[in-house]
Amino acid sequence: MGGTKTLAGVGSSPDDLSDVLTIPTTTPEETLGRLTRHLRSFDLDAVGIASFGPVELRRDRIGYGSIGVTPKRAWSGVAVVGPVEEALGVPVGFDTDVNGAALGEHRWGAGRGIESLVYVTVGTGIGGGALAGGRPVHGLGHPEMGHISVRRDPGDTCLGVCPLHGDCLEGLASGPAIEARFGTTAESLNDADRGQAVRLVAFYLGQLLRDLVYTMAPERIIVGGGVSLLPGLIGTLRERLLIELAGYPGLPEHASGFVVPPGLGDLAGLAGGLVLAETAFTPSA
Ligand code: ZN
Repeated sequence: MGGTKTLAGVGSSPDDLSDVLTIPTTTPEETLGRLTRHLRSFDLDAVGIASFGPVELRRDRIGYGSIGVTPKRAWSGVAVVGPVEEALGVPVGFDTDVNGAALGEHRWGAGRGIESLVYVTVGTGIGGGALAGGRPVHGLGHPEMGHISVRRDPGDTCLGVCPLHGDCLEGLASGPAIEARFGTTAESLNDADRGQAVRLVAFYLGQLLRDLVYTMAPERIIVGGGVSLLPGLIGTLRERLLIELAGYPGLPEHASGFVVPPGLGDLAGLAGGLVLAETAFTPSA
């Protein structure tokens, strides 16, 4: 479940996913209704949901499995796990969209064999899911990496579009921030603006990657989402990270293969749903 679109598929790995339904994320009633009607016709063992957030992941809380307070007002406080469990009669695993993507990439994609990794998505918003020891990082809530403060590019006059913080990372480097600066979406920029957008997004995102290296010491950072598809962005981002780190720590093993695109592309979230479903599934004896 993403903030703008929701996908549902049936299978046991990204290779055998079938009956993939793609719908816009509209009201909770319509979106969850279409999802459960689609899935009801299959003989399922379990369901896994990787959802946009914030979400309540603490199992001892009454609100477990629901969406928290969000600018998408219709979704604030909406229960997701309970209604799906009730409608389909199977256990439901639940985590954030980005933790889900990190789990999917860890199992089948660019994070295979890597127990400590971060999945960063740059699109309508910016978010990050982290695995430590192969498990998603939770605590008070879940990481909200898109809302860190960043040093401003001196020539950048954009005020920032985050409804909460203005010029946080998401406010300056997300898809809507690109639109605010250039008057068009990342996909339809002309060549000159695209070059400028890549430079700015890498400048800001490089600071998140630096902070991740310093705070979480991941073995790999996977960067996905619509904005990450800007031609040249990943390469420019690698260069920015090295500048930001200024040689400390010296990272010979990071020179290649440290910042990578998703191995599963658009399927990372669905793959994460499969991992979450497996986590929830308890085979009957
Ligand atoms: Zn923010």
